Order: sequence, then structure tokens, then C-alpha cells
Amino acid sequence: MKTLLPTSTAGSLPKPSWLAKPKTLWSPWKLQGDELIEGKQDALRLTLDDQNYGGIDIVSDGEQTRQHFVTTFIEHLSGVDFKNRQTIKIRNRYDASVPSVVDAVSREKPVFVEDAKFLRKITKKPIKWALPGPMTMIDTLHDGYYKNREKLAWEFANILNQEARELESAGVDIIQFDEPAFNVFFDEVNDWGIATLEKAIEGLKCETAVHICYGYGIKANIDWKNTLGTEWRQYEEIFPKLQKSNIDLISLECQNSRVPMDLIELIRGKKVMIGAIDVASNTIETPEEVASTLRKALQFVAADKLYPSTNCGMAPLSRRVATKKLRALGDGAEIIRQELST
Ligand SMILES: [Zn+2]
Repeated sequence: MKTLLPTSTAGSLPKPSWLAKPKTLWSPWKLQGDELIEGKQDALRLTLDDQNYGGIDIVSDGEQTRQHFVTTFIEHLSGVDFKNRQTIKIRNRYDASVPSVVDAVSREKPVFVEDAKFLRKITKKPIKWALPGPMTMIDTLHDGYYKNREKLAWEFANILNQEARELESAGVDIIQFDEPAFNVFFDEVNDWGIATLEKAIEGLKCETAVHICYGYGIKANIDWKNTLGTEWRQYEEIFPKLQKSNIDLISLECQNSRVPMDLIELIRGKKVMIGAIDVASNTIETPEEVASTLRKALQFVAADKLYPSTNCGMAPLSRRVATKKLRALGDGAEIIRQELST
């Protein structure tokens, strides 16, 4: 029988401190060569163990084999120059030194397929695999070649589709595209953002998800959130079109956010991953707090379409905190399962 309220995480989980410096984005690897390959596989086993302990039903790689959710994918493509960096504003929010597109972009070999095969071998649970979405990829690059955001997004959509098809063949059950940029560039999302995402999932038989959040719990994002007022209604701009799209699941930030829960009504019919864990705080949610968020969501999502999750990735947290938060998520979902079965 299919589990009701299957739990999962939105994306990254902390890496072991012997593999990369903790609580740091873009943290350099501490191992090299064969040791790094072996270390990444050991980290995959550990993150799976942490997720099993937390009662997570749909497991992931916790992004243990990548330095960053966007940059690592782009590093594997040709046409992008990582030495010739330019400073740009990411999501209209903070300056970052980013690589440049200098030629036609292409994927010469698979990026995460071997990692996915490894994870498939060590678990029988359903696997969700995250990839960056086309719009978030272009927003993390300087484009000195196409000089057109939409054109580059279509190129990336083709490349992502190649990778997604191979991840599906490797046994991945849900492929998720991370599109935090969807919360910022509403006109572009409606003009071509959702269309390029649908290109990225073309021909897939596995389930597909899009994760749209307010970002990692880093200072630039927290400062930005403080400017958004008492109600965060960004989702309202893009939900009507997403509701009509071919994407199966929509992953959202809810816990401790100021997103009005009733906005979810706009995507009625979709499966919804409800963020019931705040990733910008070290305070561990109680299972009852998780359950309370899920109960509110159940007003707008049918129980068989509700997927309890985290607000975003947990890479910036300590492993101790992240593991306890996973356990709270698993225990909180169990409270609601019991309620629904009586
Ligand atoms: Zn996120």
C-alpha cells in the first residue's frame, strides 16, 4: 500500500565535516582523486542513514556529491568559462562572482547519473533527484554569448532533459527542478519560464517536481525577506499557470514563512510538497508544530496529494540540527497519518 503523506526533503543536507567544511555554501572538497570518489559514496550512505532515521519516505542524495545546487551542474557543461568570472546580481538580490557563457552550451557527458545509480543500489525507497531549473541556471551566470536570457534558458532546458531522461533510466522516481528564480521574475516565468521547464520534463515517465522557495537561510535572503511585508503573495503571480502545467508536484516554503496558506488553493489538483521545516533557524520544530502546519495545508490540499517536506535545502545547518529536524518532520507526518486513519 502506498504511504499516505510521504515525507521528503527539498534538497541539500549537510555534508560530513571530513568531506567539506560544514555550514558553508560552495565549500571546497577536503579529499581528492579516488579518495574523493570514495568519500562522496560514503557520504551518500550516511545521508541515506540520516534520512532513514528521520522517517523520510522519499529519499535523496542530499546533494552530497555537489558543491552547489546550480554551479556543480553548470561546471560539467561545455561553453561555460569558469576562469573568466564576472560579478552579477543573483535574483536581483546579491552580488556574486559567476562563470561566463562564452560559446554554445552542451552536455558532453552525464553529470549525476553515476551517483544516482549508486544511490539506487543502496536503497529500495523511492528516490527524488534535484536539478537546477533553466531560469535559475541563467540567473547564476554571466551570458557573453547568447546575450538573451530566454534563448539560453531553452538551451539549458534541452540539456536538462537529456540528464533527466538518464536519471529516470537509472531508477530515479521523481525528478525535481529547483526554481527559486520563479519567486522573483514573474513576467518571465509566465512568458517562458514554465514553458522551458516543461521542455526539461518532455518525454519523462517518472514524476516531476518544481521547488520554489525564498532561498537558503543565508543573510542576503533573510534581509530580502524582511523587505517583503507581512504577507508574501509572490506565489500568487505564478500559480495559475503552474496549475495548468505538466509538472506533477510543487514544492513550497510554508513553515515560519509569511506565505498565506490559502494561496495553495490556486494549484488545486497538483501534488504539493509542504515545507513544514524552517531551514533558516537552528530551533528544532516539535512534531506537533510540523503537524499543525500540515493540518493547515490539508484545508487546501487533498490528503493523498500532500507531501510533507522542508522549506529548502539544509546544507547551511549542522548535521546534528538537520538530523533532528528530519526526525521532527517524520514524527509530525505520523501524527497526521494517525489522525486521518481514525
Ligand atoms: Zn529552496
